[in-house]
Amino acid sequence: MTYRIPFNKPSLTGNELNYVADAVVRGHSAGDGLYTRRCHEFLEKALGVPRVFLTTSCTDALEMAAFLLNVGPGDEVIVPSFTFVSTANAFAIRGARPVFADIRPDTLNLDENQLASLITGRTRAIVPVHYAGVGCEMRSILELAAAHGVAVVEDNAHGLFAKHEGRFLGTFGCLATQSFHETKNVTCGEGGALVVNDPALVDRAEIVREKGTNRSRYFRGEVDKYAWVDLGSSFLPSDILAGFLLAQLEAAEEIQAQRCRIWQRYHESLAEWAGRHDVRTPFIPASSEQACHMYYLILPSLDARQRLIAFLKSQGILAAFHYVPLHLSDMGMRFGGRPGQCPVTESVSERLVRLPFYNSLGESEQFEVVETIQRFDDWPQ
Ligand SMILES: *Cc1c(COP(=O)(O)O)cnc(C)c1O
Repeated sequence: MTYRIPFNKPSLTGNELNYVADAVVRGHSAGDGLYTRRCHEFLEKALGVPRVFLTTSCTDALEMAAFLLNVGPGDEVIVPSFTFVSTANAFAIRGARPVFADIRPDTLNLDENQLASLITGRTRAIVPVHYAGVGCEMRSILELAAAHGVAVVEDNAHGLFAKHEGRFLGTFGCLATQSFHETKNVTCGEGGALVVNDPALVDRAEIVREKGTNRSRYFRGEVDKYAWVDLGSSFLPSDILAGFLLAQLEAAEEIQAQRCRIWQRYHESLAEWAGRHDVRTPFIPASSEQACHMYYLILPSLDARQRLIAFLKSQGILAAFHYVPLHLSDMGMRFGGRPGQCPVTESVSERLVRLPFYNSLGESEQFEVVETIQRFDDWPQ
């Protein structure tokens, strides 16, 4: 079914198709061509980090992180239960056990106050997710991790170019991952990046990403043949996708400005209605320069949330909910998840709804979403 106002719509910024055509005509459509290098340079310069590697997805970047940290059977990795599957799955496929943490009721980020009780002698990594592009309490998380010799990998799928305490998200952990999936702020359909903040991990990241070979060193003329030197897989995207991505990165400031206008419009025009109906709107701490990745509402009950989504649907507007708590999923339960373990996650997951949000969402369409929400009168008794 198609909606008059969809939930998400990928938008072009102008140069994508030119760069894609150029990448093809240049004759280097495999990975690590001109456009991949330009994306790497762009991101390294913009974020001020030692190395960035494009990957085919954020999922792949997380899997690379699991490789690089040598996470394996017997190890535990702490993840929020309120996140996308890949945050946990990337470590689980290496044999590690995900340990689910609850979230803070205000930002919906990993609750740093719970971490101490979840760390054991087997904990190898903590994976904070900057939900909606609002930074986690990184100071406490890093302090605790350092005290226990545990790595921090930021899942920053939502938060490219956002800041926490004046510093870019994705620059706090030894590793961080980005997503350029169609639903994210800056996209190339499917894509991601691994941000390497610890210089000691750079050389091996290059090898892991190139099927466990030293091909990158060979191309730089540093070795006279390339060979299988470590474990790895194929994590690099085609230069055609990198061409698309570069155009989006070059337009990132406009994209962000537009998304912040959309976010602000929702926030201002729904404030009074939300207050009247006991609906919670996003909380942005003063320490945060958020990414304006999404706009969500937290309804008073599951029933109210479902009725609102159904009403919007009947008016041609698609709103969406997420996430099914990982600790209550089939896989999560196999890792010991049980009802009641993460009460905030369980409650928010039932009541949260995300409104249509994409770069080309026009002011009149957005007004229509707001006006339709304000007309909703099918509240449960
Ligand atoms: C989108 C998303 C991912 C996965 O990104 P892909 O690029 O689709 O693999 C991982 N974590 C979070 C929090 C996400 O929102």
